[in-house]
Amino acid sequence: MSFQRAQRLLKLPPYLFKEIDRLRDEVRQRGVDIIDLGVGDPDQPTPNHVIERLCSAAKDPATHKYPAYSGLSTFREKAAAWYGKRFGVKLEASKEVITLIGSKEGLAHFPLAYINPGDVVLYPSPAYPVYFSSTIMAGGEPVAMPLLRQNGFLPDLGAIPRDKLAKAKVIIVNYPNNPTAAVAGLDFYKDVVEFANAHGLIVVSDAAYTEMAYDGYNPPSFLEVDGAKEVGIEFHSLSKTYNMTGWRLGFAVGNAELVAGLGQVKSQIDSGAFDAVQLAGIEALTADQACVASMRALYQERRDVLVEGLRGLGLEVEPPKATFYVWCPCPKGLSSADFTKRILNEAGIVTTPGNGFGEAGEGFVRFALTVDKARLAEAVERMGKLGL
Ligand SMILES: *Cc1c(COP(=O)(O)O)cnc(C)c1O
Repeated sequence: MSFQRAQRLLKLPPYLFKEIDRLRDEVRQRGVDIIDLGVGDPDQPTPNHVIERLCSAAKDPATHKYPAYSGLSTFREKAAAWYGKRFGVKLEASKEVITLIGSKEGLAHFPLAYINPGDVVLYPSPAYPVYFSSTIMAGGEPVAMPLLRQNGFLPDLGAIPRDKLAKAKVIIVNYPNNPTAAVAGLDFYKDVVEFANAHGLIVVSDAAYTEMAYDGYNPPSFLEVDGAKEVGIEFHSLSKTYNMTGWRLGFAVGNAELVAGLGQVKSQIDSGAFDAVQLAGIEALTADQACVASMRALYQERRDVLVEGLRGLGLEVEPPKATFYVWCPCPKGLSSADFTKRILNEAGIVTTPGNGFGEAGEGFVRFALTVDKARLAEAVERMGKLGL
């Protein structure tokens, strides 16, 4: 028998990183020593105190049952307290916080709660692929807001086509940004709140990288702005901050009605994050944050090695203030695909082509700082030999 997949899947491109993994494995088969700067997955282990907490929590039979749909109330309280301490944002844990099985899960399910067929979702391009695909799966129409270098990779809200804006229900922002590594200040968030009020939009803020920042910079939360909680929901993740990508733990905070809508979808689909993982998450959020400081120091050093190296090759890269990505313009005359393929085939370096994150990413390549300084220096040296 042959099985025809549903229309919603036929409308989706193959998941970007699955395709890159395939190309990488092909080159590796030829015996090439691969330096993988492709996927944004930390190479460091989860801090030991968090692992210990998981172990003890897993031994307690009380954690072996179905979790509560919205998450463990103590996890939500600690997440709210963390938001208060970190951003000065007050949240009511029982109504304005929900536990997620990773923030990708929440971002992917959110449109199912608010998007009807024909509704437009304004999303950034280039971007994390989930915004586009989750809109399609909900039957909505994704409309890209190009992030351009001359605008500091912030969307130009005034440039959104009027007819699309009239049908828009959601606008998605993501700062510190993946893949451009751009950051946004409170001025931008104020504009977004005003824009959302003017056009009746829900604001989705993906804040996965607020803790991964350098040179003493502390990225703000969208919710710090007056009126943000009336229009928006923010998605947060423990994945990057505590090297917990495999654990699947995040949370969403903000407008109680929006949190409840997401919760209604989730209650029909999943049964929540394992309580023991949530207890370990509490440990991560409440214990001494020295591990976060060392994470920042580690990536800052790596960033400096790679940025200096790429500049030495004549590439005009900016040192990112946040995230563990370097968004690098391609050498003259090479497209994103050309550049990525050449450095993979001829130097064994895996990167992500900018256009893989959306059309507006053409002309750039994303390097993830997921190997040590010596390997980054070697990557630069190998690239230098190609004479690009
Ligand atoms: C890594 C990442 C996330 C976090 O995903 P989790 O599901 O929490 O692991 C969310 N948004 C962006 C843009 C990311 O790069």
